[in-house]
Amino acid sequence: MVLLPLLDTPTMMVMVAAGTLSMAIAMSVVRPERREGLGLWALALVAHTVTYVLFLLREQTADWISVVLANTVLALVFALLLGAVAEFHGRALPRLRMALPIVATAALMALFLKNYQGRLLSSSFMLALQIALVLWALWRPAAPAQLRGALLVSVALGAQGLILLGRGLWHGINGAPQGSFIGNGAGQSITFLSAFVVVLLASLGFILMTKDRADATNRHLALHDDLTGLANRRLLLQTLARDVARAIRARQPYALLMLDVDHFKAINDTYGHAAGDAVLQHMAGLLRQRLRAQDLAGRWGGEEFLLLLPGTADSGGQIAAEKLRQLVAQSPCAYQGKSIAFTISIGRCTESLEPGDQPEHLIATADKALYAAKRGGRNRVESAPLSRMHALIGALPAPARSFHQASPAPPPSRHDHF
Ligand code: GH3
Ligand code: MG
Ligand code: MG
Repeated sequence: MVLLPLLDTPTMMVMVAAGTLSMAIAMSVVRPERREGLGLWALALVAHTVTYVLFLLREQTADWISVVLANTVLALVFALLLGAVAEFHGRALPRLRMALPIVATAALMALFLKNYQGRLLSSSFMLALQIALVLWALWRPAAPAQLRGALLVSVALGAQGLILLGRGLWHGINGAPQGSFIGNGAGQSITFLSAFVVVLLASLGFILMTKDRADATNRHLALHDDLTGLANRRLLLQTLARDVARAIRARQPYALLMLDVDHFKAINDTYGHAAGDAVLQHMAGLLRQRLRAQDLAGRWGGEEFLLLLPGTADSGGQIAAEKLRQLVAQSPCAYQGKSIAFTISIGRCTESLEPGDQPEHLIATADKALYAAKRGGRNRVESAPLSRMHALIGALPAPARSFHQASPAPPPSRHDHF
């Protein structure tokens, strides 16, 4: 505290301007694929730089420039931050809440042009209000998923808001500070030091938010099928390996269902591939409907799906499979005014797991049962005992086998196929 009055205000203003501009440049280098508010945030930083350049001109230029204009641009800074947060959340810009404080600030500054205390009070409260609006937009109606970045933004802006409020209250009670605006003093030092720190921390927090969201999206993409949104082969295998080990350790039952759409090629041929895609998406929706929290449904290949059902005994697996088969048979897919009815065949492996059982044994068994269901006429559920002798070394992660006699094995991804 002892050092605060010694800090030189103009120097600090130059540092704030330089720091903010550097941050703005750094931010505009980060080019996200979609609009995430980074552009507006960087624009806010540029406006912040302008504000401090105008502040520095105090006593060298007309007051309406270094007072009215400077404070109006500062109000614009927080309006842009509000816009950036709205854009990050994918909402429309809150134009009124952005514009009103700017207009009000300009009016108040003009009104109190010759009244330092009036200016100080109104600008402090106005900025604190704008910060509250930004934080409200950040956390409402629901907390953002990017917690650490959002917390950094909030702590930084929140501290700034509190300092501004404190400054406003202090001078409201004790009168305007002595000395000029660009003169040195503890009050000015705290204000500009905090502005410097807040710009850096809040901006880094916002960048972190966009980065965390991009990471989460990438993680999701790496583990999910982009057509159906279900787990992809990689996530299915990861989960199955973990589930099987856990079921063996805990001696708990486990059910694995392999589903295949019947005559799917005919659906494609009759209605077109886009209709086929719609059927797969419809199928995914039906699977999601039936899932319990611990279950996982995934797309194993073309029109084949796996359903992992931990804690499900033999009878439970049979009931689940049968219900699913009936649900699909009774739920045609609506596509462009047409109703595409279709059925599925299901293979499941029975028998509880023992030490040494491998995920690929379960898959091979369900696959075998599915083959039997196809041969048995389709639209049915078949089961097979876990074939432990059937050690399918090298069978994974090859693409799923086709059940259509005449066609080659389906590809691992639809893109390879069309
Ligand atoms: P079966 O009853 O024996 O299962 O016959 P099927 O016609 O369903 O099986 P087959 O393996 O002969 O054909 C599967 C078809 O699935 C062939 C392929 O063109 C199609 N397919 C694979 N992936 C996709 C996809 O992502 N979208 C669409 N529309 N079709 C796909
Ligand atoms: Mg099929
Ligand atoms: Mg198939």
